[in-house]
Amino acid sequence: LKKLRDQGDKQNGLRQQTRPIPQAKLRMDIVVVGAGLGGLAAAIALALRGHSVTVLEQAPALEEVGAGIQIPSNTSRLLWRWGVFEHLDELAVKPNCINFRRWENGAVIGHTKLEPDFQQNYGAPYYVAHRAHLHRALSERAASLGVAVRLNSRVTKYNAESASVTLSDGTVVRGDLVVAADGIKSLARDTLHPNTAAQPSFTGFAAYRATVDVEKMKADPSLLWLLEKPSLNVWIGENRHVMTYTMAGGKSFNMVLSHIDHSDPATWKSEGVLEDIKREFSGWDSQLMSIISLIDASLKWPLRSGPCLDNWVDRSSRLVILGDAAHAMVPYMSQGAAMAMEDSGALAYVLSQISSLGELPFALRTFQDERIRRSGEMREASLVNGLIWHFPDGPEQVARDEAMRAEVDGVPF
Ligand code: FAD
Repeated sequence: LKKLRDQGDKQNGLRQQTRPIPQAKLRMDIVVVGAGLGGLAAAIALALRGHSVTVLEQAPALEEVGAGIQIPSNTSRLLWRWGVFEHLDELAVKPNCINFRRWENGAVIGHTKLEPDFQQNYGAPYYVAHRAHLHRALSERAASLGVAVRLNSRVTKYNAESASVTLSDGTVVRGDLVVAADGIKSLARDTLHPNTAAQPSFTGFAAYRATVDVEKMKADPSLLWLLEKPSLNVWIGENRHVMTYTMAGGKSFNMVLSHIDHSDPATWKSEGVLEDIKREFSGWDSQLMSIISLIDASLKWPLRSGPCLDNWVDRSSRLVILGDAAHAMVPYMSQGAAMAMEDSGALAYVLSQISSLGELPFALRTFQDERIRRSGEMREASLVNGLIWHFPDGPEQVARDEAMRAEVDGVPF
């Protein structure tokens, strides 16, 4: 039975990768704004359907800030199908499981098995990777599909009625449709929703992002267990949690150290961050503190979440937003970029079904309604995790740990 199941998994995986992607009935010229993870994913999904795609990016070079990124099965399934994983090669790590640990001693209080369960249940493995590697894989795949990426191209105005944008040097770039994936500070979103209430706001959650060189960790025998079997380990405690995993083919160790800080992010300083981290997590599990002591540099990020926007499409039906521009969320479900990629697949699918530009309003409305519902659920679930993981020790924490322990007890690990 196991052999048959393994064969089935392989065949399923293969089918997903090789099943042809139906071409759009109507080939369009599409302008994508933003070459982040969302914009490049949209460009790939649209180009694979036969559209001609130009990406406009304000930055002078293609790069991603930050360190690691989790690629849950809903994302990796798309990336395999789009041919992006061939460009990630061995750089993506498949963790075995997620362990939730008690803040003061690292005791396991919750366990989610990823490997092979996520492949079997959701049709694709759960991965982690360095953002720069994922970004490079997307841009290589986009280039292989003939997508033109124009750097140093900052959009200063969206002219939705004419499906065009104006760049900072005055150039006008025109298409049949503009897809804005211009991130959390989206000008396109502000054009659709001039009301500032539509903008994402600071949640009071802050995250230090850091990487640790695994060679340094190897020098401390008490930390070797973290490197032996790739897994995600999350220490949770009052108002704080720390997410960790190995990435970059096992060469680098990623840490996101979250805590609550309601002060104005504009007053945060970059000096003294390492001391701040040690102070924030002082008294936590000694092994975690050993890893923290190996951090050389870190940045503190304010985590923002947007309201549920009721409209992602301009009334001309020639401008649509996706990704963080449409649904910024805190990263506690690891689904921000995942939602941008799902948006991309969904948009490419609905657009492939139309035969004339006159059908754009219906197609974009269908896309928007489905994606508002789905991304809204993820945004709320992310905020809920920010509550559940941060209970102070007491009755709620005990009830949470007991509920999680019931799952652990059923799993040998
Ligand atoms: P962005 O990545 O912000 O890209 C927008 C692009 O548009 C940029 O390149 C920008 O330069 C360009 N741009 C903006 N304005 C203009 C303009 N006017 N003209 C031209 N170009 C413009 N998600 C996950 O799925 N998994 C995770 O594990 C995960 N972890 C996270 C951890 C942290 C700490 C944080 C903060 C987020 C995390 N996320 C995660 C969320 C994820 O990073 C974002 O959802 C994702 O990067 C958004 O992609 P985007 O393309 O929509 O926006």
